[in-house]
This record gives sequence, C-alpha cells and structure tokens, in this order.
Amino acid sequence: MNNKIQAIIQRYQADRTRLLDMLWELHYLYGYLPDKALSELAAGLNLSVDDVRETSSFYHYFHDHPTGRYTLYLSNTVIARMNGYQQVLAALERETGAPVGGMDESGTFSLYETPCIGLSDQEPAMLVDDVVFTRLTPEKVSDIIRQLKRGRSPAEIANPKALPEDEVAYVDQLIDTPVCKTGEVFFQQQDDYAGLLQNALDAGPDAVIGIMTSAGLRGHGGAGFSTGLKWRLCREAPGAAKYVICNADEGEPGTFKDRALLTRSPQAVFMGMILAASAIGAREGIIYLRREYIYLKAYLEKQLQQFREQGLLGDRILGRAGFCFDIRIQMGAGAYICGDESALIESCEGKRGTPRVKPPYPVQQGYLGMPTCVNNVETLAAVTRVMQQGADWYQGLGTDDSRGCRLLSVSGDCLRPGIYEIEWGTTLNQVLSLVGAADPWAVQVSGPSGECVAVGKSGERRFGYGDLCCNGSLMIFNRSRDLLDIVHHFMQFFVDESCGICTPCRAGNIDLRDKVERIMAGRGCQQDLDEIVSWGSLVRSTSRCGLGGSSPNPILTTLQQFPEIYQAKLVQQQGALLPSFDLDKALQGNEQARIELTQTELTALPEVTK
Ligand code: SF4
Repeated sequence: MNNKIQAIIQRYQADRTRLLDMLWELHYLYGYLPDKALSELAAGLNLSVDDVRETSSFYHYFHDHPTGRYTLYLSNTVIARMNGYQQVLAALERETGAPVGGMDESGTFSLYETPCIGLSDQEPAMLVDDVVFTRLTPEKVSDIIRQLKRGRSPAEIANPKALPEDEVAYVDQLIDTPVCKTGEVFFQQQDDYAGLLQNALDAGPDAVIGIMTSAGLRGHGGAGFSTGLKWRLCREAPGAAKYVICNADEGEPGTFKDRALLTRSPQAVFMGMILAASAIGAREGIIYLRREYIYLKAYLEKQLQQFREQGLLGDRILGRAGFCFDIRIQMGAGAYICGDESALIESCEGKRGTPRVKPPYPVQQGYLGMPTCVNNVETLAAVTRVMQQGADWYQGLGTDDSRGCRLLSVSGDCLRPGIYEIEWGTTLNQVLSLVGAADPWAVQVSGPSGECVAVGKSGERRFGYGDLCCNGSLMIFNRSRDLLDIVHHFMQFFVDESCGICTPCRAGNIDLRDKVERIMAGRGCQQDLDEIVSWGSLVRSTSRCGLGGSSPNPILTTLQQFPEIYQAKLVQQQGALLPSFDLDKALQGNEQARIELTQTELTALPEVTK
C-alpha cells in the first residue's frame, strides 16, 4: 500500500467514522480522489471501494476526476447575480481558459459554480482552493488570475502581509465582518469564562437546564425547539456516552451570521458547548464546520487550544475529576442537507448526509447511536449569555413566545448589508429602515426554505416564532428584480441539493421547477398554477426531512403574496386561460422519439396517403 495512504489511515486509527477526514487528506494529496487511492483506502479500512465511493460521491467538493492546480468555486446566489455575477463568471472563463465545470488545457485552473458560500454581504465571491476572494469585479478577476499565472499562491495574493492563518487578523484580511448593529445578547465581551463555568458546575446540571428552560431560550436553527427541554431529554436518555454537536453548517443561501459569530465570538460558542456538555453529561463535542468556512479552521483550532490551556477543555476541567470534555472540528465537504441535524450526524460518522427517519431523535440515538445534543452556533452563543445574565434577564427580552434576540444576515437591495441583532418582536418595516432599504418590494425571509413576503402587505409583521419566523437570512429585492427568475433559481437550488432518498422531494422539485420554467416562457395556464399548489403541498407533506418539507416554499409563498407576477405570464386565448403543450420543446434533444412519433403517425395514416 502507498505509504502516504497508510499514514493517513494510521492517523485516524483506521476508524471508518472518520472517513470524511481521510477523504479530505487524500483530496489534498492528489487534487482529487483517484480510483486507486480509494481502493487502497477502502482495503485499509476493511470496506469495499463502493462503500467509500458511496460517501465521497455525495459531497460537492470531492472530485473523482483530476482538477487543475487551482480550483475556483464561484458562489452563484441570487445576490451575486444582482451584483455582476455574469460579468465575473465571463471574466473567469476568459482569463483562466476553463469552462464552468471543467479545466483549462494546461491543467492550471478548474472552474465551478457553487451554491452560497456564506458571503452574501460581499458578493460576488469565490473560493480559490482554501482562500476566499470577495467583492469581485472583472478587473479584480483579471488581476488575481494574472498573479496566479505568475506563480503567486492564492494565500500570497489574498494575504500579502503573510499574517498567520490562526489569527483573527488573517480572517479580517480575507473578508469583512460587518456587524452593523449589536444588542444585548451577542458579541458581548466576556473576560471570565472560568468563573462562569465554575458557577454552572457548582449549580449542577439540573440547575443549568432549569435556567435555559426558564429563560425561554429556543433553538435559533429554525425549528425553535426549547433548548432546556432538548438538554433534559438528552440527559435523561440512556446511553454509555453522550455528545454535543455544534451545527456550523449554515448553508441556507443568504445566511452568514454564524460566520460572524465564529469570527468575533468563538469563545462564547465553545462555552455554550461546554455548558451543554456539563448539563447532559458529555465527554466529546464536535463542531461541524461547513467546508466553505475552511479559512476559519486554523483560527478556531487556536482558540480551542487556548481554552485547553486555561483548563476549560480537556481532562479535569477546572480541576474537577468528574468533568472531562473536549471539542474537535469536523470539516464538511459541501452538502446543504447536512444542515439537517440527523444528516449532519450521518456525515460526522463518515457517511452520506442522508437524513434519518425520526423517531428516534438525536437526543435519543444520535452520533454513534448515542444521545446527542445538536445546537446551532447562535443558540450556543446565546446559552453563554443566558448563563452569564440569568433567566429573568433573558425573559425580559423579546416577546411572550419568542424570548431574547436574533441575528439577521441582511443582503440584497439595501444600503447597509451585514449582521443586525434585533429583539424578537421587531417589525419588518423597522428592520428595512435600519438597513437602508429605499424601495423594498419583496423580502425573502429565512432563505429559499422560508417565505417570500410582500413589503406592502407584511411590513408590520413582527419577527418571532409565532409570526415572521426567521432563521437569520433576509434577502431584500426592489421592483427592478425579476421575482420569477429568483423563484426559479431557488427551485433549481433544491433540485441540486435534494439527497434523493425520497421520491416526492427528488422528483417533485424537478416537476415544480419545470412548471416555473413553463410559466416564465409564457406557456403556463391556470391548470399549471393549480397543479403547483397541489403538488407543492404533496411534496411538503410527504417528504422525509425539512428540505422537502420547505422546498416548494419559493413558489407557494410568491403565489400567495405576488399572484400578479404569475397571472401576467399565463397563456390566454379568447379571454380564457388555456392549457398548453409544446410538442417541439418536449421532444427537444430527443430526435429518436421524434422519429418514432413521426413513424407512428405515418403508420396510422390511411394507406392511400403514404
Ligand atoms: Fe432527502 Fe429530500 Fe427526502 Fe430530505 S426530503 S430526505 S433531502 S429526498
């Protein structure tokens, strides 16, 4: 066996649950995953090569074919498209000589489009290997590619001062972190984490869980489940080991608040994990970091090491013999569905990110079949603040059904895109005024999986679990934008990101996207709209996980809030809306079917006319 592959296997003690890490090491070694290397890895893990491919083929960033010396991933969100994406893409193709999805003839560049990379506040943006470049223009692209051709590395171009990668200054050199408005909960200075943890350990697990429950803290990932209740269920679930997982896989297009928290307040997130571990009785924690945030990894590792040196992680935390807990970072490899907690757990176990059937829930049987608490980055940061300030204090923020504050990642047609901390209960109009949205028409709340609301109808709605529930993404569109085109883009996103395990989601999203295309082409009719509603409801109600449960939302919510944009496109004849079928379009690209159809028609004709 190849010595380097053997070393990789040994480094992970042939633990097949660490397959993602091993695949990453192979990928860095060869620039892709060659068949021979996969076979050797499989043999070393006592797996079949198909077992290994089953995992590797699931993730966008793993390639099974050779890639160029530099691999470029251009984020193709709707926000990028509003800010010169097409010109930037054209410049990349021209300057590199690589077509989208391919490599240039010299083998220097590979070029790919990729869904949101968490930079909607500064797009167009791209990753070149592990280095990010933002606010791209055709001129900037020309300059970057010219320098790469001259032999400068992506890191040398983006980081000319050669700042150490484990310093926050390095992250700041690559990207902005525009925290435009802070509030009471997030980005707070905390100098005495040891004192905070000491108090929690003195109080005991039941008291800590009680504080979270009385505070009314709910998960900020979207579902809004009570954090205290989740911890209690996990604590009470039987299991030889328990785990805490931080979901740092914010892949919802338009969201970038976790990126800001991990940059400005990583210690608050770690402390939230430690408090969770003390409450449920966990010894191991995992931060599942999305691949797109690879430039944060060295910085986060250093921050974790500092916690270890302060006695806040590791064996005998704060000198207590019974409390051992440490955290490792698990890099994702590009899959939106891994934001689902059970898919994320599968991925942590080295498998495809396929959502599990529930029950059992992760708090009962999660990572490695053991009770597992999965909380997202923002929730864990809030946990630390609740512990610091107390349940009563937190109760005083927000509304009856939504306590505390929430971070919004704001992008699109506004003067000041960035991160805003608002109290739950703030109205949409107040936020739009805050961010300098001069002529807002539509707002996509919670990304494609959320709802698209008309500002005129919904401006006075309040952010909160009982009204305008928001997972943190807010994309603003003015009247110059083509909403149907945006809806189509979102549907394509779900088609691409469906894991495919259940039919309603795998096939239904394609059908719904095709309906949008038909309407955009001016060939849709009322029947198409009726079918969109019924098929969309079917997909939502019969899919296994939240992706299928929300993927029809871009169409259904715009149909409800902006019916006029659909009605204006429908086919009309003699005052009636007619069904339509374009035979030529349906047969496009299938000449054999056209020939067979023509032959059938000829066969059916009376003999005399042939
Ligand atoms: Fe996979 Fe979609 Fe089914 Fe979720 S709903 S499990 S993403 S096919």
